[in-house]
Amino acid sequence: MISPPAQALANSVQYLKGIGPKRAELFARLGIQTLGDLLDYLPRAWEDRRPTDPSRPILEGAVALRGRVTHAREMRTGARLLLYIARLRVPGYPEDIECSWFKRPNRRYDAFATLKKEVVQGADLWIVGSTEPSFLRIGKVQVHEYYRIDDPHAGLHVDRLVPIYPLTEGLSNRLMREAVASALEETSSELREYIPRELLEKRELLALPQAVPAIHFPRSAAELEEGRRRLAYEELLLLELAWLIKRRQMRGIGKDYGYEVRRTLLTPMKDQLGFEFTHAQKRAINEIFDDLRAPRPMTRLLQGDVGSGKTVVALSALLLAVENGYQGAFMAPTEILAEQHFWTIRRFLKDLPVGVEVLSSRVGAARRKKILAGLSSGDISLVVGTHSLLEGGVSIPKLKLAVIDEQHRFGVRQRATLRQKGPSIDLLLMTATPIPRTLSLALYGDLDVSTLDEMPPGRRYPTTRHVPEQEALEAARREALAGRQVYVVYPIIEESNTLELKAAIAEYERLRAGVFQGLRTTIVHGRMPGAQKVRTMEEFSQGRWDVLVATPVIEVGVDVPNATVMIIQNAERFGLASLHQLRGRIGRGTEKSYCFLVADPMTPEARRRVATLCETNDGFRISEEDLQLRGPGAALGVEQHGDLCLRAADLKKDAALLTDARADASALLDEDPSLRRKELAQLRSRLRARYERKWHSIDLA
Ligand code: ADP
Ligand code: MG
Repeated sequence: MISPPAQALANSVQYLKGIGPKRAELFARLGIQTLGDLLDYLPRAWEDRRPTDPSRPILEGAVALRGRVTHAREMRTGARLLLYIARLRVPGYPEDIECSWFKRPNRRYDAFATLKKEVVQGADLWIVGSTEPSFLRIGKVQVHEYYRIDDPHAGLHVDRLVPIYPLTEGLSNRLMREAVASALEETSSELREYIPRELLEKRELLALPQAVPAIHFPRSAAELEEGRRRLAYEELLLLELAWLIKRRQMRGIGKDYGYEVRRTLLTPMKDQLGFEFTHAQKRAINEIFDDLRAPRPMTRLLQGDVGSGKTVVALSALLLAVENGYQGAFMAPTEILAEQHFWTIRRFLKDLPVGVEVLSSRVGAARRKKILAGLSSGDISLVVGTHSLLEGGVSIPKLKLAVIDEQHRFGVRQRATLRQKGPSIDLLLMTATPIPRTLSLALYGDLDVSTLDEMPPGRRYPTTRHVPEQEALEAARREALAGRQVYVVYPIIEESNTLELKAAIAEYERLRAGVFQGLRTTIVHGRMPGAQKVRTMEEFSQGRWDVLVATPVIEVGVDVPNATVMIIQNAERFGLASLHQLRGRIGRGTEKSYCFLVADPMTPEARRRVATLCETNDGFRISEEDLQLRGPGAALGVEQHGDLCLRAADLKKDAALLTDARADASALLDEDPSLRRKELAQLRSRLRARYERKWHSIDLA
């Protein structure tokens, strides 16, 4: 009989020493079923537990000490806390070091039972803990972990760089490390490289059998970084393979319709715009038209800073669809924005024979029914709304082009599933968060990208200043009396936060009766009924209000050229990207405009955000700064990292590695489009395991 090949990697963690079915459930909570999963579970940090240098005083921070207990006893403190103290003689230190353990009392058992057995006079121990100034009086070191010198596993936990794992209740780092170490041992003969050797050599990367132990139990910081880099490359290679396969698949879909540039609508629209397209707009329009006329559906991202003029570019594309007898949809993330786009589009189209409608909650039942009928019959060729348009229930039989505005508000996964809803229509996604090219490879690796890197001429950027509130309010009042309009924004980050909302409403009352007395002041916030929100915004844009107090519901896209002042209250609480978006609401007309940041910048970061905003209007610089400050996950507003499956990779520092991975992925697919080669079998199955279900249809079967 030939025995089956060893498959320890697929074994359940349950059979590791010290685990068993109960603990296996805890591991399962972390997504760890098999030994392979366990090795894939990466530490979140590594602690340097090499013995603390006696020549430096033990002050704040982590310490690791090896010594002999000279004295140990339990101490009575209050009823709430038990204290156990041991004095440790550590070679090199002039005095014994006091180490303390704290426990809550437990009626059923002696909390210090084990300590009383193990931490006794004469015991040789490793102590891992931290020191804080306040502990000086009751014991220098607060103990987190200790190990007996003769503990055979001590070498995993002390005297080295020690991995710290993200845990769940009931699992300790000690158990986790010992489990990972046994898993490494049991699978050592099975860890086989599956990335082609030429690639590893070209990119100077460790092979998998070295990289996995290096990331869990590195022997040095350098080895750790080498291990991390290898695993990061692997993640990025898989990510880029996934994006490129998706992209190739989309390109492989045919379309049974085509576009011809007739200009029956495009030219008249252009003639009545009142401005010329910028070079960047012309270039983007050409790229989009070329893409639309190609024999496959378009999936293109149009990125451009706030105010760069994305709307008319999108409208041009939509008109091309209408010229060809098709229908188009324009979708925005909020109803306010959808309504705004609707008015803008109507204004741009004036008397052109194009049926345009908006579907929002303000539309009454009878009218809604009529619009639905018009869409169904094809009488209405352009419809504006929120994403609910794609969610079903609305029949748009000749829909060929969908525009999705402010797409950065939505996660990678949502975009990846978009195609499911409209397998063969053209998609134009728009975003006002310009990001560096490397990041766009990670986030938008499946898309073609057009960029508006130029602002319409004569744009007068707002002057941004950090000022005391009173100064801001008085300046606002002067502008309002001169006929301009004012936004006052309050930082309600969670619109569901009732306390914050109440505070904002109270502020509104205070301003209306106080400094803005005699002006027409109103409020809009996220908890108002949709129709009322939309009506208030409409009235504001028609000039029926002088001052609009608002929560960040107005963040995106709103276009009121006569608004020249924005006061952002508690500006320190907003992220950079939000501040920039908010500020983008002013500076849209010909008058000089002002953005006042009222802020108590407490943290250095908040100070830097406020300073950056005062310094520049360049969205590209601002998003770079945001990435530096917060990292890509937070800066881009969604849990992109989870969706991208990046654990070892760090988009902030692995830009070069990402570019390499993209090139390598592309070359692999050129040679072997469905990764059929035998030596790629494991790469392929890893790729499927990671992204197939998550993103839908990375079809490699
Ligand atoms: P965003 O890219 O932020 O969506 P918009 O499309 O709302 O920007 O455009 C911002 C403002 O600039 C609008 O008032 C729009 O009419 C105007 N605009 C767009 N293109 C031009 C241009 N080429 N010349 C002058 N103004 C323009
Ligand atoms: Mg816009």
